[in-house]
Amino acid sequence: MCNRFISINAFLAVTFLCLFSCTNSPEMTKKDSNKAFVDSLMSNLSLEDKVGEMTQLTLGMLCDGSGPYSLDEPHTLNEEKLKTAIVDLKIGSILNSGGHSYSPTKWNSLIQSIQSAAMNEKTSGIPILYGIDAIHGATYTTGSDLCPQQIGLAATWNTDLVRKIAENAAKDVYESGIPWNFSPVLDLGIDPRWPRFWETFGEDPLLTSDMGEAMVLGYQEGPYPIAATLKHFYGYGMPLSGKDRTPAWIPERQLREYFLPPFERAINAGAKTIMVNSGELNGIPVHVNKKLLHDLLRVELGFEGVLVTDWEDIKYLVSRHKVAENYRDAVKLAINAGIDMSMVPTDLEFPGILLSLVHDGEISVARIDESVRRILHLKLALGLFQNSIPKTSAKTSDEGDSKNIALQAAEESITLLKNDDEILPLDLGSKILVTGPTANSLLALNGGWSGTWQGDDPAYSNSERPNAAEALIKKYGKDQVINFPLEMDFDGSDIVKIVSEIKLQKPDCAILFLGEMPYTETPGNIEDLELFQNQKDLATALEATGIKTIYVFIEGRPRTFNEIEPLADGIVMAYLPGDYGGVALSNVISGEINPTGRLPFTWPKHASSHIPYFRKHTEDIHTDFSLNAFNPQFHFGYGLSYCEASVDSMSIDKSSYLLNDTIELTVSISNKNDCEATEIIQVYVSDLVASITPSVERLREYKKVTIGPNEAFDVTIKIPVKNLGFVGIDHSYIIEPGNFKIRINQISKTFDLFEQ
Ligand code: BGC
Repeated sequence: MCNRFISINAFLAVTFLCLFSCTNSPEMTKKDSNKAFVDSLMSNLSLEDKVGEMTQLTLGMLCDGSGPYSLDEPHTLNEEKLKTAIVDLKIGSILNSGGHSYSPTKWNSLIQSIQSAAMNEKTSGIPILYGIDAIHGATYTTGSDLCPQQIGLAATWNTDLVRKIAENAAKDVYESGIPWNFSPVLDLGIDPRWPRFWETFGEDPLLTSDMGEAMVLGYQEGPYPIAATLKHFYGYGMPLSGKDRTPAWIPERQLREYFLPPFERAINAGAKTIMVNSGELNGIPVHVNKKLLHDLLRVELGFEGVLVTDWEDIKYLVSRHKVAENYRDAVKLAINAGIDMSMVPTDLEFPGILLSLVHDGEISVARIDESVRRILHLKLALGLFQNSIPKTSAKTSDEGDSKNIALQAAEESITLLKNDDEILPLDLGSKILVTGPTANSLLALNGGWSGTWQGDDPAYSNSERPNAAEALIKKYGKDQVINFPLEMDFDGSDIVKIVSEIKLQKPDCAILFLGEMPYTETPGNIEDLELFQNQKDLATALEATGIKTIYVFIEGRPRTFNEIEPLADGIVMAYLPGDYGGVALSNVISGEINPTGRLPFTWPKHASSHIPYFRKHTEDIHTDFSLNAFNPQFHFGYGLSYCEASVDSMSIDKSSYLLNDTIELTVSISNKNDCEATEIIQVYVSDLVASITPSVERLREYKKVTIGPNEAFDVTIKIPVKNLGFVGIDHSYIIEPGNFKIRINQISKTFDLFEQ
């Protein structure tokens, strides 16, 4: 074995040398030389090497402890387990932490040891590809700045900022020695019951596509490039039951109309990897659906990168989906459907099973080679053959920069939903009661995937970053803030105490922090979208005292609360704003920052009435046959500001267009206040009659503009007519001539579209 290892490493070195000298010759492009490198590597790999490359294990499988989920502390690599996995089984990829975050130094030393086993002891000498979930900053790197979760980022409508956030996260991940990130989520957040709603960019396909593209570019093309992962391909985000990993029934036309565009855009932006939807779509677990994983993804969309399963999903084909009798059958189905890498990640059987399937002719060598080539190309593109660890510096991110950007994102995301009698901002001299179950929790601000998977262990949060109550105390002074912390399961006796405190201390107003504590995936399933009864009881009791009350929601999905909505004087949605969410909220509440966030989803008024804004006309029909049935608590795109600009007029350059034309809108905007305002101009278009029932309207363009005090100017917005189409009856994209309406706020115009 030793001899072979020496010769392979020598081979790698020679091949690499050749690669670099060859790329200098003008006739050989980088693509050619990469192919040549991978070709020669492939010619030296055994089948055992290849199936190992297609295998991904969780870090816990390499550490001391009684199992991957019960490791000894501090987590330490176990020499024997390392040898079995990396050297004997030739595993090509490892993921995540053993359960919680580590310092960058620890990360570097862990990965260094794994890489040294891979490159010095494994026969192929091929470096390991390490992957991680760094979904809102470097989730598993202690000290990194955690930003708002995707749902909050979408509320900023600021793609430049999202790109910067991704660049910063990439830096922290890169400097931890990790080149591959399982982010962004490009599922749509249409059903707020779904416990991963907050991991999405909301309900709109255009906003999601723009945000997703920005994030992919930020990860992959910034100064610290790491590979992005589009997940979860596809149709994962709208299960019928609202519960995670349960069946979705979405016809192909709707899939292509709403769910595919974000993936398509991100693939075109060069996304290097994709993770598969764990659930079943129209009766078929996606992990075995060759039509989706091969025909759609590879042939139609031209995706050339690596397709990885989600956690344990090949085994779930047996234990949960029941489409395979045993592990062997499951592996055969998934690999033949087009999977490149199995996130196994907690057993050692996968490579052996795959090997035997190839030996028995049930999976072709060509199928294996195709996947291994993709994996090697990815490792090459990430520079792993040159530097198996992206960088060995133990430095965390540039504190100032990433902190400021995380804070800016939190501030830009915060969405003011109600402000009766301008209760907000609250003067610094105000005496305020701060209470509610999310007021005193940094965990609540961050949500899932923060330090740990569920984000619920304070030992792994950045405790020096203030929660909402601490930030308000800092801002208003401790004599001005009456803080009454509560747990999620507070009861009537707590409410009685708060009420007597109000009567005794007579604060000017109460800020009631409502919402949820962290969760993700199945642990976040709910039976009912309605807000918790004890939170509603508290709100009702506060109202009865006569105190003015502001609700602040810290939550990743809109819980329904229409019963207590009229009792609030002000309402703020903070989403899951991250490590600097407390400071951002105190800046918004005090008026230092003018809130400009706008909802990236429709906030339902009733627990069973969650439909997106791009509903159909029949969904507007009320029981009395009026057209008022669509009556959400707050509309998609809604949000208020302390200082607001107004859209005074909108004109379009023509009254009719041809299919190749571009519509040019001139939007006159003014700010009649003495303060700076920011407006997100949202352009909605309605196709008034179409061969497929048209949506009432669709967001087709938007622009975030800042306007100085007492300023007025025109903004030009261009919309190519080709963007106004839809997926037709035969599942292809078409643009139909006819009459259209274009709307910004209350102003609308109509125009005709002609074929020629
Ligand atoms: C989640 C993925 C995640 C993976 C690896 C799964 O449970 O569905 O989103 O990337 O675990 O941690």
